[in-house]
Amino acid sequence: MYQFELTEEQTAIRDTARAFARDVIIPVAGELDEHGTFPRDICAKAFDLGLMNVEVPEEYGGLGLGAFEHAIICEELSYGCVGVATTISANNLAATPIFLAGNHEQKKQYLGGLTGALSFASYATSEPDAGSDVAGLRCRYERKGDTFVLNGSKQWITNGGHADFIVIFATRDAATRHKGISAFIIPKGTPGLSIGKKENKMGQRCSNTTAIHLEDCAIPAANLLGAEGDGFKLAMATFDRTRPDIAAFGLGIMRRSIDESVKYAKERKTFGVPIAQHQAIQFIIADMAIAYEAGHLLTYKAATLLDRDQPSAMLSAYAKCFCADNAMRVATDAVQVFGGNGYVKEYPVEKLMRDAKLLQIYEGTSQVQRMVIAKRLLA
Ligand SMILES: Cc1cc2nc3c(=O)[nH]c(=O)nc-3n(C[C@H](O)[C@H](O)[C@H](O)COP(=O)(O)OP(=O)(O)OC[C@H]3O[C@@H](n4cnc5c(N)ncnc54)[C@H](O)[C@@H]3O)c2cc1C
Repeated sequence: MYQFELTEEQTAIRDTARAFARDVIIPVAGELDEHGTFPRDICAKAFDLGLMNVEVPEEYGGLGLGAFEHAIICEELSYGCVGVATTISANNLAATPIFLAGNHEQKKQYLGGLTGALSFASYATSEPDAGSDVAGLRCRYERKGDTFVLNGSKQWITNGGHADFIVIFATRDAATRHKGISAFIIPKGTPGLSIGKKENKMGQRCSNTTAIHLEDCAIPAANLLGAEGDGFKLAMATFDRTRPDIAAFGLGIMRRSIDESVKYAKERKTFGVPIAQHQAIQFIIADMAIAYEAGHLLTYKAATLLDRDQPSAMLSAYAKCFCADNAMRVATDAVQVFGGNGYVKEYPVEKLMRDAKLLQIYEGTSQVQRMVIAKRLLA
């Protein structure tokens, strides 16, 4: 049985996040986008309201909410600005491998750190020459006594410039591909860790994306996350849990695109009538709504399976791929409904289109999602 109606608690969570998007995010989203300003103040308010780190177990200071509730929050925040939603949920991306593989001390220190005071974290698999092919990463580690020493570079790391710790994946021997990869927690300020260039992006401009450099970066052996050599499995298990969040970002973009399009179509007149009376516009809007509803079913199903402790790589990939591709299409259609006004920054839909594109790229491109699905179907 899958859930179609929200419980009272879930409705309250949704209403809180919805009001937050309306009152706190939307009024400043354009400004943040224009200047690429990191939304620290907004995150501080989200933190105080209990909208950050929500899946961290209560034992470590979090709310212990499920993937379903997190998906609800992700949709609402991204309705306001998906750059803000990405900033907030990058903490969840970094917390997930610790939640999955960390020992009690690591959970206490790092998950407890996230919930104790406003702070940020990053998760880093991608490199300049290894994005889709995670098993091909080349950032190296070697054991020296009681330490691990890391060398290499990471690329495209969300929250990189603001992270208090980074979960980094590195290999002891790149030739062994997935078998050689391990995960490490590297705290900010560790000698040898430096933050590289901040990217000037097309969309989600307020989210911070940087390179990370590691030069003889030595960390205590206690910062190894999970067993040595299990890093690739951990990275994949993490994505299975976090891809529904990206799907939910797509839902937020789709619902905002629909709301803006409906409002505009009723106001804008051509040939003496509101464009809402032209069937061509009606059909565009109807198709947007179909995609949104179908995306909801996939996202809720993927999240429900996670909450039942039955993570499904397939379902998470279905949801992420469908919602990312459709968010891109729906936002592009919203620009079409707005005509010339859709192409300028006075109206919100051009930002939705720019922001949506990233959903098809990060946490596995839409092609990678199809690879995950096809591999299992054809096995
Ligand atoms: C703004 C932003 C934020 C990000 N945040 C993070 C982060 O926090 N942490 C992190 O680790 N990474 C992050 N990423 C990296 C992101 O996950 C990668 O960009 C993504 O996985 C794609 O890798 P790539 O850019 O190297 O593209 P490539 O792997 O070079 O792919 C290029 C193209 O080829 C296609 N392709 C590749 N291989 C195949 C194949 N076998 N079959 C068919 N098509 C294929 C891809 O789909 C893509 O279209 C972020 C990226 C961006 C842009």
